[in-house]
Amino acid sequence: MTDCLFCKIASKDIPTDIKYEDEHIIAFPDINPKADVHLLVIPKLHIINLMDINDENQHIITHLIRKLPVIAEKNGLSGFRTIFNSGKDGGQEVFHLHAHLLAGNIKFGG
Ligand code: AMP
Ligand code: ZN
Repeated sequence: MTDCLFCKIASKDIPTDIKYEDEHIIAFPDINPKADVHLLVIPKLHIINLMDINDENQHIITHLIRKLPVIAEKNGLSGFRTIFNSGKDGGQEVFHLHAHLLAGNIKFGG
C-alpha cells in the first residue's frame, strides 16, 4: 500500500535499523520505546491488523508468531512481552499489522 508508513519501512523506502528480516517479515526498533528493548515485527504484506487475517494470509501471521522467539534470541533476550493492538478501540495507531516485542523495564501493556 503506497500510503502506509510500515509498507514504506518494509520496502526500505524509509530506512530503519533492521534487527531481523526474512521473506515474510521485518523487525525494527519502535521510534518511541516503552521498554529497554522495544521492537516492532511486521509482515511485508500489508495486513491491517488481526481482524484482517483470512485463509489466504494466515500463514504469514503464523510465521510471524513463530519467529518472535528467534528474533528475541538474536537480540540477546531471555524473554519478552508481545502486544498486538487491533483497531481504534484496541489503541492501534499505525494500521499495518505489527507485534510489539518488549523486554526489560516494560512500561506498556500491563
Ligand atoms: P500501535 O499503537 O500499536 O499502532 O503502535 C504504533 C507504534 O509505531 C508506536 O509504538 C509508535 O511509537 C511506532 N512508530 C510510529 N512511527 C514509527 C516509525 N517511523 N518508526 C518506528 N516506529 C514507529
Ligand atoms: Zn502497510
